[in-house]
Amino acid sequence: MTALVATTELLVQHRLGSATVTALRHPGLRVEEGESVAVMGASGSGKSTLLGLVAGLAVPTRGEVRLAGTSLSTLDDLGRAGLRRRLVGMVYQADNLLPHLTAEENVALPLALTGQQPAAEPGALLALLGLDGLHNRIPDQLSGGQRQRVAVARAVVGGPRLVLADEPTGALDEQNARGVVELLVGVQRRLGAALVLVTHDPDVARHCGRVVTIEPAAGTGPGPRS
Ligand code: ADP
Ligand code: MG
Repeated sequence: MTALVATTELLVQHRLGSATVTALRHPGLRVEEGESVAVMGASGSGKSTLLGLVAGLAVPTRGEVRLAGTSLSTLDDLGRAGLRRRLVGMVYQADNLLPHLTAEENVALPLALTGQQPAAEPGALLALLGLDGLHNRIPDQLSGGQRQRVAVARAVVGGPRLVLADEPTGALDEQNARGVVELLVGVQRRLGAALVLVTHDPDVARHCGRVVTIEPAAGTGPGPRS
């Protein structure tokens, strides 16, 4: 069966003046439909870089990323954006909610932008995430944990096959972090989506079916041979 995410060995390097910075060196990632994977590793080891490759936000210096059978390097920026919009929902450490829209309007926004049918009604999703009665509040009127739950609802409202979460609880206290992750994993399973969750916190990681650890790549090297 085709994996939802399948990569070859990956290398990501950036030019920084005359030096080359290795941002990620990874033997390869495979994620099946519906499974949940925690990605752990030291700060700077390339976790966000890896998530960016899987989302098609960047392409590797070496290696290939396949998303639902499509090689992302065969697509241009627009093609990757289209595939991402259809297949992927993303949650970041900062909630990135629009401050002048209510919780429900924030959740509905991706549907308005893409014309997608909702996997669940925005209001029902908010209720599922424990935000009943808070639909009409703007982000300023919600706590950090509540805002992050709105961000989770927004990430899944279009029914993504893959949810990518980059330290979604990094800005929350322990109790809120646990609540958000339990709800994130709960809604992911209910919708049958796969989840790749970057976290520093072993308590968060153990909610996932599997843990992948990234070893830091050798940092800065000499400039590339010309
Ligand atoms: P993590 O999310 O694990 O903390 P990142 O993926 O953000 O790590 O970054 C991995 C490494 O690559 C870090 O050392 C970072 O400084 C470097 N890096 C990331 N993006 C760039 C860039 N655009 N230019 C130069 N170095 C970068
Ligand atoms: Mg990061």
